Amino acid sequence: MADDAPQRESMEYDLVIVGGGPAGLSAAIRFKQLANEKGEDLSVVVLEKGGEIGAHILSGIVLDPKALDELLPDWRNNSDCPLKTEVKIDRYKLLGENGSAELGWLPFPPLMSNHGCYAGSLANVCRWLGREAEALGVEIYPGFAASEVVYDAEGVVRGVVAGVMGIGADGQKKADYEPGMELLGKYVLFAEGARGSLTKQIMNQFNLQADCDPQKFGIGLKEVWSVPEEIFVDGLVQHSFGWPVRDKDGNGGGFLYHFRDNGEPFVSVGYVVHLNYKNPYLAPYQEFQRYKHHPDIRRYLEGGKRVAYGARAITSGGLQSIPKLSFPGGALIGCCAGFVNLPRIKGTHNAMKTGMLGAESVFAALQAGRSGDEMTEYDDAMHSSWVQKDLSTVRNMKPLMSRFGTLIGAMIGVPDMWLRSLMGFGFLPTLKHGKTDAASLKPAKDCKKIAYPKPDGVLSFDKLTNVSFTNTYHGEDQPVHLIVKDMALQKSSEHDVYDGPSARYCPAGVYEWIGEGADLKFQINAQNCIHCKTCDIKDPNQNINWTVPEGGGGPAYPNM
Ligand SMILES: Cc1cc2nc3c(=O)[nH]c(=O)nc-3n(C[C@H](O)[C@H](O)[C@H](O)COP(=O)(O)OP(=O)(O)OC[C@H]3O[C@@H](n4cnc5c(N)ncnc54)[C@H](O)[C@@H]3O)c2cc1C
Ligand code: SF4
Repeated sequence: MADDAPQRESMEYDLVIVGGGPAGLSAAIRFKQLANEKGEDLSVVVLEKGGEIGAHILSGIVLDPKALDELLPDWRNNSDCPLKTEVKIDRYKLLGENGSAELGWLPFPPLMSNHGCYAGSLANVCRWLGREAEALGVEIYPGFAASEVVYDAEGVVRGVVAGVMGIGADGQKKADYEPGMELLGKYVLFAEGARGSLTKQIMNQFNLQADCDPQKFGIGLKEVWSVPEEIFVDGLVQHSFGWPVRDKDGNGGGFLYHFRDNGEPFVSVGYVVHLNYKNPYLAPYQEFQRYKHHPDIRRYLEGGKRVAYGARAITSGGLQSIPKLSFPGGALIGCCAGFVNLPRIKGTHNAMKTGMLGAESVFAALQAGRSGDEMTEYDDAMHSSWVQKDLSTVRNMKPLMSRFGTLIGAMIGVPDMWLRSLMGFGFLPTLKHGKTDAASLKPAKDCKKIAYPKPDGVLSFDKLTNVSFTNTYHGEDQPVHLIVKDMALQKSSEHDVYDGPSARYCPAGVYEWIGEGADLKFQINAQNCIHCKTCDIKDPNQNINWTVPEGGGGPAYPNM
């Protein structure tokens, strides 16, 4: 060890889990269930960068309860479980600027139905899962950001460093400096969600994406509205495609879910813009604000009040983009590997199930006296589970929509989906994704500027006002966690060629080009960052690296 390397205490566990979302918590619960059934005292810790479990969780959410039924079969009778709204009305619409068409005539296969699913807040579901996990004996450390992977001399993943605090913006140690701890495990499961910062390193270290297509993403922007009973429609779930994003610029779609939280009526309204959009002038945040003004959306918001706002990347590559999951010492579970079924806009059931499969593999390996090796049996278990089937059926929808636009893509994709769900094979081969989302932007000179309407302050809001509804906080005196690798490249390309798309794709107003000529400066308002990860995905040169700030910083989402 170098003389100036931080001296850290370490703690040893049987299993270390990085990330307290649905995947990480399901893994922890399943692991403890198995250990308790066998009467074995096995230890598991969950590390979460949010100030509490749920603080950084943003989802729709309409939950397919398939995995939850397997994990905690009695959940419907558990009064503490916040999922109380069963889907009763399920609508699909194609939006035009002033009107809409019901897509009920499009004969979607049964897998697209939301009946039997539940609407609610995933942040609150995670808070409840956290309580269930702790009751089983899981240790949970919120406010603990895992910032480094610990490898042994053979290159096996042994654990992570978490809880580093008290480094100033100048990189120097402050009076409250804490070197953090090494949390070491016989196995480590990474459950960081879409575009995990340590997952990215692990994927490179072990070349886990060698045999798959690049992962694809969307940015999902969402508000929660408290609405009066008169406009609330219990159990209404509405998905829409098309407007306001135009096919020549990119693809997108919206959702509107009515649910009760503690008996109060709420509407979740959100819009997902696929991050393979081409026009650097497209602004996902503004598209979302515009979307709420559509007659079919505004009628469910007028008279209500926006109580929360947030944004988060969502994976959308599906089956073709799933990397190798296991590596020496651990595995990837949940959306850090990407398990979202895009046409259903659902990933939580698959995140939970892969967490459970990961935990089962760890438990079996420990029972066999193994540790720190590669659990390829987990890869096999995932590929023979219902997760594989769920993703296999819809595998061509995303590539078709990217190539032919939303409507035509869906019209070609739906028959393929039908055939695959009935026969297990489609009339198309598995289509490839091609390039990364970062490579899809066109130079600004080849694109038209987009004029967005001003927010009215009633249905639509300016970005910074909305950011205040994320309850985001970061200690001011800490290093900027958004690392621009080459500032000269940022100027010559991001600014000069693409006209600064970061100011438009960032949903929190973090990036700005200020000044002119020799005084031109790339300003990073890191304290506003809501951890959506879009900059890490969409910067055209992959020149921005999102790293974890001090634990406990970031948004504090209430019921996202
Ligand atoms: C707008 C939107 C709408 C969606 N709608 C639906 C829907 O209706 N139905 C559905 O089923 N799915 C939906 N999804 C997808 C669903 O949210 C994901 O599939 C699911 O959240 C993935 O769970 P996860 O546990 O893998 O990751 P996440 O939910 O992202 O959780 C990861 C956790 O790990 C923590 N973490 C990350 N890195 C670190 C670190 N280094 N150290 C410590 N902690 C860390 C994060 O803070 C977070 O709490 C939607 C997603 C979005 C963005
Ligand atoms: S800085 Fe990056 S991760 Fe943070 S809010 Fe903006 S786009 Fe998202």
